Amino acid sequence: MIDTKTLTIEKAGEMLRKGKISSRDLVSACLRNIEERNGELNIFLEVFDDALEQADRADKMLKERKGEKLTGIPIAVKDNILIEGRVVSSASKILDNYRASYDAYAIKKLKKAGAVLIGRTNMDEFAMGASTENSAYGPTRNPYDSTRVPGGSSGGSAAAVAAGMALGALGSDTGGSVRQPGSFCGVVGMKPTYGAVSRSGLTAMSSSLDVIGPLAKNSQDAEIIFDCIRGKDPLDGTSIDLPPASPAGKRVGIPRDFLKEGVDKEVLANFEESVEKLKKAGYTIKDISLPYSKYSLAVYYIIMPAEVSTNLSRLDGARYGERREGNTVFEMFEKSRSAGFGAETRRRIMLGTYVLSHGYYDAYYTKAWKVRRAIMDEYRKVFEEVDFALTPTAPSTAFKFGERSDPLQMYLSDIFTVSANLAGLPSISLPSGFSSSGLPFGLLFSAAPLRDFSLFGIEKDLSKN
Ligand code: GLN
Repeated sequence: MIDTKTLTIEKAGEMLRKGKISSRDLVSACLRNIEERNGELNIFLEVFDDALEQADRADKMLKERKGEKLTGIPIAVKDNILIEGRVVSSASKILDNYRASYDAYAIKKLKKAGAVLIGRTNMDEFAMGASTENSAYGPTRNPYDSTRVPGGSSGGSAAAVAAGMALGALGSDTGGSVRQPGSFCGVVGMKPTYGAVSRSGLTAMSSSLDVIGPLAKNSQDAEIIFDCIRGKDPLDGTSIDLPPASPAGKRVGIPRDFLKEGVDKEVLANFEESVEKLKKAGYTIKDISLPYSKYSLAVYYIIMPAEVSTNLSRLDGARYGERREGNTVFEMFEKSRSAGFGAETRRRIMLGTYVLSHGYYDAYYTKAWKVRRAIMDEYRKVFEEVDFALTPTAPSTAFKFGERSDPLQMYLSDIFTVSANLAGLPSISLPSGFSSSGLPFGLLFSAAPLRDFSLFGIEKDLSKN
């Protein structure tokens, strides 16, 4: 019996290439877990009917000794990443029956490597949220405790890996959406340097912040996925190739000012324990100061909704998704958009439209960009002195459904993660043990832009102690 809850991509890949297991067996094991628990946890919006066929194709590649690291490995895909011919809804009614006409760059790369795309995972509508409660298709439940959220917005992808329904997954991270659910579900979630993975075929939320990132059981697995999907793509002018990996340093900086308020006691205690472990592993620790970063959330909640309102203006119910008739075309748009978008999406479209409006543009939007620039600059300086900035991934462990029904409270979930998006930094959430009630903790390491590969070695160093 293959236990996909513990098996890593690295190990499974070895076994596949040596012929000890087949991709068909591996995918079947994931499908069994899906069969068993998806009804309860609502992780997959769709399990692909050709998963076993894909597995057979991978087995053929493996027999012909054309197997790569991801050949035959079942991967789950967030419902905002395009797979040709498949529905891709961003968990929104307005894209209910929309089918992708091409593959996202990351999907092209996965297909070429022979990975098996097992299904599309639930998420907060258009990736707006931190709990997966904003899906038009019902919330996803945390595999560790089904009375709690899996985090979000890539909650389905994180939960799929934790529940052994896939060995790895793709998510998207605009303000923390890969790392925070990674932390809540006890898996690794990595946000690449902005541009290191092409946005071609990622449904746009906030284009200056969005990036696709991997979720997996450990750093090595996350690195395998990241290395497959990254690279410069002519279809995304902001995409880049990373320079060759240089040796990772061991200097860690902690912005202590951030930890003073609003962080759970248990999270803090776990954080301090981890700092001790790092010291034992030969890391040096020092305090760093990031005075502008205390405005990160405020800046994020101006720039992000501005881009959201622009990006989502193209959705009108005319050709697919929820459509309501009206007497004029504008009435039809208005009614379709009101019915097709959920409450959080409508809130952000309104906020974004407001900050971009003629009278307020300079006061909010231009100002926010100036502060964003200052945040980038202060990180650049900090990374002359340290190799990593370290905080907990989130101020709490997984919370209960409905517990953060006040939007501002929900927004605070991203307090530690958004700075990396604003500054374009690579950033990784590593599992860091469990709370007294058995809920996973996460540790967040961020590095200077382009230093993505330096993030993947920390977990191994930590595990030695
Ligand atoms: N939770 C954040 C938000 O609601 C981040 C979302 C994301 O990264 N896609 O905007």
